[in-house]
Amino acid sequence: MPLRSTIAAMKPAHYVNGVFAPTEATFPLLSPVDGSQVGVVPEASRDIVDAAVRAARAALDGPWGRTSVEERCAFLRRIADGIEARFDEFVAAEVADTGKPRDLAATVDIPRAIGNFRAYADLAYGRPERAYPTTVPGWSGSGQALNYTVRRPLGVVAIISPWNLPLLLLTWKVAPALAAGNAVVAKPSEETPSTATLLAEVIGEAGLPDGAFNLVHGHGAGAAGEHLTSHAGVDAIAFTGASATGAAIMRNAAEHVTPLSFELGGKNPALVFADADLAEAVEGTVRSSFTHSGQICLCTERVYVQRPVFDEFVRALAERARALTGYGPMISAEHRDKVLSYYRLAVEEGATVQAGGGVPTFGDARDSGFYVEPTVLTGLPQSARTVREEIFGPVCHVAPFDDEDEAIRLANDSPYGLAATVWTTDLSRAHRVAPRVEAGIVWVNCWNLRDLRTPFGGVKASGIGREGGEYSLDFFSEPVNVCVKI
Ligand code: NAD
Repeated sequence: MPLRSTIAAMKPAHYVNGVFAPTEATFPLLSPVDGSQVGVVPEASRDIVDAAVRAARAALDGPWGRTSVEERCAFLRRIADGIEARFDEFVAAEVADTGKPRDLAATVDIPRAIGNFRAYADLAYGRPERAYPTTVPGWSGSGQALNYTVRRPLGVVAIISPWNLPLLLLTWKVAPALAAGNAVVAKPSEETPSTATLLAEVIGEAGLPDGAFNLVHGHGAGAAGEHLTSHAGVDAIAFTGASATGAAIMRNAAEHVTPLSFELGGKNPALVFADADLAEAVEGTVRSSFTHSGQICLCTERVYVQRPVFDEFVRALAERARALTGYGPMISAEHRDKVLSYYRLAVEEGATVQAGGGVPTFGDARDSGFYVEPTVLTGLPQSARTVREEIFGPVCHVAPFDDEDEAIRLANDSPYGLAATVWTTDLSRAHRVAPRVEAGIVWVNCWNLRDLRTPFGGVKASGIGREGGEYSLDFFSEPVNVCVKI
């Protein structure tokens, strides 16, 4: 259950030029667990966004712009330590905003946020630059030169993050952006302002120069998000969220040709071959479809199962889905209604509901919350909207296939291409299939097993560019080639 006292006491606030800035405009923050109001969120005006961008620019012209990579990495480590020191507070705030099970926040969200700062402290410090000794025969003088490449920050970067893994995804961008020497203006989701506000406190306590990190709260379209991403003073935009929002941001960014990094939506497939360890594949699919009630971009919403094991797989998965307890709600009433509209659409499109399909009853305060049942569907054609559109809830559709080529064709028949999972005990098949699936990330016999050094991102409507390891540092910096005649 949410810790209301924590969130009420926390009061999400803008953080501009090293101080928490008050605003008059606010909107209510509701608990997804029982629908009650648990706080208010400030709505940043255009003036506040302007002030944040100006503060960021001034930081680049001031002490922050003169920091060495060693100094920046030391700041990152202090920020990681600061989050760790207030671990329980961060967990409580994340649980209060999202309604997610405490275990999830305590084992995934907050440890990963700490890990993001530590990983980028290591990666940025250990990053080599390149040199190219050059000989040009017949050129005047020695005919020799030394080319070397240095990287400089992009400048002021706007970071826009979603509500599903609020601190994890925010820090996944903030850490490399700061490591590379940029100044940041971040806008978290309007649904989940609390851990971002705590992060600003920790960053202040870590002694980061004023203006290097700024935080503005508020909505996206026509509000703080749009003010920020269309701002002439922003040098780059890193965004995680829905593909349609990415398209809107791209249109605004076009005016100033602002560079973009996009992590967008998905409709992720799982391919279960008849030679898979079926129990493992079922358990893996329970995790990949229902963790955080399906509200993770990497969650599986399409499962394709080889025909000889199809019935057994569906029976086992539906049984596990029906038995799930302790799951969290959808983030908002609006999102719950969207997910339920897909449950209804699926039936209209001819689906058989193998498990769930409605709203659970708990007999307590959660009955006023935003819950939906974990749901397993079968029987839809590949052309059904339920099979093509991202639902972002605890639901998957299971369909049969006959052979490898058909499995790959079905997996790739989607506007999205974020992640995929392949379940097989045939090693050769795993290596054959994985590279043919159109996705940025393919897991074999596992799901969401992450190494922060590896590239993360999607193809098609699932994103532009990659995050993780050097890929983020590449985005957040610009190579400058220097050629010195010898
Ligand atoms: P969303 O796109 O509605 O909102 C994300 C952020 O963008 C919020 O901070 C919002 O205020 C802001 N925003 C909205 N409209 C804007 C606009 N016109 N201009 C500027 N900012 C704007 O997404 P959401 O509902 O918060 O998150 C769910 C979506 O995010 C799903 O589609 C999911 O797949 C995707 N997602 C992707 C990844 C990934 O790594 N690929 C990770 C998590 C979530």
